[in-house]
Order: sequence, then C-alpha cells, then structure tokens
Amino acid sequence: MQTYSNMVSGKLVEATDHQEIFNPATGASLGLAPLSQESDVDVAVEAARRAQGEWARVSDQERRAIVSRVAQVLEENAEYLAELITREQGKPLSGFGSRFEMQGCVAWTQVPAALELPPEVVHEDDTRKDVMHRVPLGVVAAIAPWNWPLMIATWQIIPAIRMGNTVVLKPSEYTPIATLEMVRLINQVLPPGVLNTVSGDGRIGAALTSHPDIDKIMFTGSESTGRKIIGASSSNLAPITLELGGNDAAVVLPGTDAGAIAEGLFWGAFLNMGQTCACIKRLYVHDDVYDAVVSALSELARKMPIGDGMNESNLIGPLQNEMQFNKVKELVADAKEQGCNVMEFGQVPEGGYFLPLTLVSEARDGLRLVDEEQFGPALPIIRYHELEEVIASANRLDAALGASVWASDTDYAQTVAAQIEAGTVWINQHGAIHPMVPFGGNKASGYGVEFGVEGLKAVTQPRIISLKK
Ligand code: NAD
Repeated sequence: MQTYSNMVSGKLVEATDHQEIFNPATGASLGLAPLSQESDVDVAVEAARRAQGEWARVSDQERRAIVSRVAQVLEENAEYLAELITREQGKPLSGFGSRFEMQGCVAWTQVPAALELPPEVVHEDDTRKDVMHRVPLGVVAAIAPWNWPLMIATWQIIPAIRMGNTVVLKPSEYTPIATLEMVRLINQVLPPGVLNTVSGDGRIGAALTSHPDIDKIMFTGSESTGRKIIGASSSNLAPITLELGGNDAAVVLPGTDAGAIAEGLFWGAFLNMGQTCACIKRLYVHDDVYDAVVSALSELARKMPIGDGMNESNLIGPLQNEMQFNKVKELVADAKEQGCNVMEFGQVPEGGYFLPLTLVSEARDGLRLVDEEQFGPALPIIRYHELEEVIASANRLDAALGASVWASDTDYAQTVAAQIEAGTVWINQHGAIHPMVPFGGNKASGYGVEFGVEGLKAVTQPRIISLKK
C-alpha cells in the first residue's frame, strides 16, 4: 500500500501515524496519508519562517518566473493529479470534474504569476511624497476543504507565494492525498521551505491557526470552523481571509425562456454533485415559468450519467463522504415528510456514496432543505409571485456568498441583482468565478476576497515610505 508524506523544507518527511483513505465511488483503498502531531506543526512553521526572509528578497520578476514554472508543473502533471482527485474526492474526470479542476489550478497559478502590484504614490505635494509598498505578511497558514481540494489550495497558496510569503498548508483530512502529491510536484521548482504541509483533522488545523508564529490565515470551509479560527487567531493576531459556506439563491424572473437557461441552472446547482460553496442551493422561480423550468431541469437530470468518475462517460459521481451523504438524505427525507414533491433521477450504482439527482418542487422557505446548506445533489425549487417577496426570500438567510438572477431582459435583471445581498450576483450564469475577478462572501459567508489584484493585496501588508521634500 502506498504511503504519502508531508513536505517540510523541500523534503518528504515520514509520519509516525497514518490514516487510510478510501475511494468514495468504490470503497477501494487509496493508500495511507500522514497524520501530523502538534510538534510537527512547530517544525513546519519554523521551516516556513526560516525560508521566508530569503524568499521575500527574491526579486518580484524572479518570483513571477518561479510561479509560472509552478503553472507548467501543474499542466504537465494535470492528468496524474486529475485521476487522483477523482479517486479520492469523487468528481468525475470528464465534464466539470477533475480535469476541469486541474485547468482551474493552472489558470489560478498563471494569473497571479502575470499580475503586478507595484508601489503606489498615495499622496504628493510640495512638502512630501508618500508611497505605499505592498510587503509580504510572513508565514501563511492555509486550511483547505475537501470539495475542490487542489483548486482551493491553489487559491490560497499561489497568491501567498507570489507575494513573498511562505506557506504551511493543511489539506482536509478527507482528501489529503491528491493535495500532498500536488505539493510534492510543485516543490520541484520552489526553493525549500516556501511551501510546507501538515496533515490531519481539526486538531492540527487548530494548532496551526493558533500558532504564535503565523502571520496570516487563509481559510475555506464551514462557518462553524471559521468562527473557531477567528478565536484561534487571538493568539497571533493574524489577519484572516474567511471563505465560508453559502446558501445561494437563484431567481428566475417572469418571461424567461426556460429552455435557454436550463443547462446553466442545472450545472449551477449540481456542479461537483452540489458540493460547491457557490452552487445554487435554493431556486426561486416565478409562477409564470415554474412548470417549464421544473420540466426542463427534469429532462436534463434524467439524461445525466451517474457512476464512478474514472469511467469517462460519467458526468455525476458520488458524494465525497458518509457524513455528507447522510446529511443530504436526511434533508430530502424531511422535505418529503413536509409534503414537497421529491423527484429522483438517474441510475444510482450499488456501493459508494451515490445519490440520485433530486429536484424538490413545491418547496418553501423554512424547510430544512431550503434554510440549511445541503451541499449535495438535491435542489429545492420554490414558486413565487411578487418581486418584493422573492428579494426578501433571497436576503433572509445569514449566508451571502453568491446569488444569481435569470432573465431574458438583462437590464431588468441588473436592477434586481442590485437588491440581492451576496458577495457576487451573477446574471444568467452561476458560480462563474474568474481568476481576475475578486470573490468572497458577505454576512456569514466570510470576509476578505481572493483572486485578481485584490487577492494579492490580501496576502500583503501596506508599508508607507514617507519622504519630506
Ligand atoms: P470544515 O470547516 O469542516 O473543514 C475545512 C477545513 O478546516 C478542514 O481542513 C478541517 O480539517 C479544518 N478544520 C476543522 N476544524 C478546525 C479548527 N478548529 N481549526 C482549524 N482548522 C479546522 O469544512 P468542509 O466540510 O471541509 O467544507 C465544506 C464547507 O466549506 C461548506 O460549508 C462550503 O460551503 C464551504 N466552502 C466555502 C468556499 C468559499 O469559497 N466560500 C469554498 C469551498 C467550500
């Protein structure tokens, strides 16, 4: 059985303790992932600290060149890593699956490599000149979730490295192997100590985020863990980028062509089996087009091939873990008990954490499936009549990551979008993130943004050089 290792100071370090990782589609063993001890966190943070000064002194141009080489390594190893993602996380190789995730890793590495954050003259008059430089924060703790394990780790580590920080990354305990392999591969082109890892569950995450020598925390995961990390950061005062859960509403306006939007709505909701932070998790459809939208979505769901994602004809895989599998089943059972119309589609294979694609029509606010983040392939569809009513519904929850408005009249859609509280409101698309466009949550979905120039700023601190003339 293959044993995987953490990376510290450019070297693979053997762990004393391990956990076995299993394929969620088949139950097959994938190998042993390391389990770090709290003392390993100290060693990894020390390694990152030792490397940081020299890394920050590397010229901006040279750092950009090195990050470009990281993108090349990701590209060259994309197929190997995609297969590992599919075996470990479950998303299929094809469609919007693991190859797509690897394309994201490459793009989200190339863009920071190309971006610049030059010093900015913030004030100048006859008496003085004030220039703001963006300097690295130091050692970044990156804590990743299991849904898009490599892409989200890339979002955290690449901007940090690009701007002269060093990193200690902790992958999710559900999906450590593909991430550790990615780190091993990209370490071939990084100086030792720039990117290190520790592995394990929340106990190791807590040791890392509360470590006194951490200067910045990049966290993506659930709201409850986010709250704990805010508490942990009181020991190091590290600023935090918090990307938390979502419960995105999509609003279909009257007069919209259901056939034209069905595919966008479908993948907006079922991307990665719904296990995506910014998936459509509640779909509000005007009475005028309600039946047409439900029928167009049903048509697509009926045709969707479900199964082991290593088979390239499958576009829908299993859920990643038993906890999530049980949670989605429980929320659907509750909706059924509450009188909703539960429609299940697809041939679900035996074994593995497979669930049918589920549309729940005649759903309503207040149902658990609507109010809680289901994070799975079960979409509640709520009928509405008045615009004020649907805007109030969209804004009634604490989660405010993404939202979308779907309409044939895009001018009208923009006036509606402006009334929705969310970090991003898409029009006629959902979850359409881009490496140049800042992304982050409002309200309980977190704070701070990633991507683009704003994302680079988030892993630096301003330093003003003020000259008396
Ligand atoms: P989670 O909060 O359970 O775990 C996330 C990570 O935090 C894991 O690596 C875990 O080991 C670690 N962790 C757990 N307890 C910790 C602690 N006390 N201190 C430090 N680290 C700790 O989340 P999850 O189940 O892996 O991910 C799913 C959630 O993530 C969903 O709510 C989803 O919406 C959200 N998410 C948000 C975004 C975004 O960009 N906003 C992206 C993806 C996922």
